[in-house]
Amino acid sequence: MCISFWMERVLAVIIKSPAEIEAMKEAGRLSAAVLREVGARCVPGVSTLELDEFAEDYIRSNGGIPTFKGYGGFPGSLCASINEQIVHGIPSSSVKLRSGDIVSIDIGATVDGWAGDNAWTYAVGKVDPKKKRLLEVTEKCLWAGISAARVGNRLGDIGHAVQSVAKAAGFGVVRDYTGHGIGRDMHEDPQVPNYGFRHTGMKLEEGMVLAIEPMITMGTHKTHVMRDGWLVVTQDGLPSAHFEKTVAITADGPILVSVEPGRDRPVN
Ligand code: MG
Repeated sequence: MCISFWMERVLAVIIKSPAEIEAMKEAGRLSAAVLREVGARCVPGVSTLELDEFAEDYIRSNGGIPTFKGYGGFPGSLCASINEQIVHGIPSSSVKLRSGDIVSIDIGATVDGWAGDNAWTYAVGKVDPKKKRLLEVTEKCLWAGISAARVGNRLGDIGHAVQSVAKAAGFGVVRDYTGHGIGRDMHEDPQVPNYGFRHTGMKLEEGMVLAIEPMITMGTHKTHVMRDGWLVVTQDGLPSAHFEKTVAITADGPILVSVEPGRDRPVN
């Protein structure tokens, strides 16, 4: 049963041509630009709904469509998840950022039918050293996962790379939510777990485009979904961070898709 499930997932992976990857970069560029702009607005006193309204305007006025809006009924153009909130926070006028918070902004823009997806966790005002370390380690997890996204490796190599960095720092790795393939749909096969064993799982092939997104916690990896049916929090109430980039696997190694022109890394 396990094997057939795995085989189904193998068969469902949609490989992209070099031209399609180039087309996806347009969505990736706008997704990265709006993320940077929203990140610059993550200051004490701003509500997450204000961030959402800014993001939707920015995306639409630059020729995109907010990928998240209406996805599975999600009401916002971005997810804003603060402190112990891991992912899928619904923007709200009553949720205001405070100094000392960390906030994951997860956002995507669809351009010419291609979906974009990326996330970054921002420090709001003055943040304590423990949270700063969580941000640094989670970003490291992201880059470790990206560098394992190579032809010849397997999915388990990505998860193992992410998990190793988090474990060495004494942090938890969320298992209930994963990265994913991305293309014309925001969520395509395969799932990309942030844990795993080296040399296991599906072979990584040229033309796969993956959203790699470590969700790392200061304590337990266990999660809980709040009553709105969306917001995911840590069971122990300890902070969590989340970083995500869309990456294309090519013969020349991983290429970042959700970046602005001329940037290897997002500005934060
Ligand atoms: Mg994603």
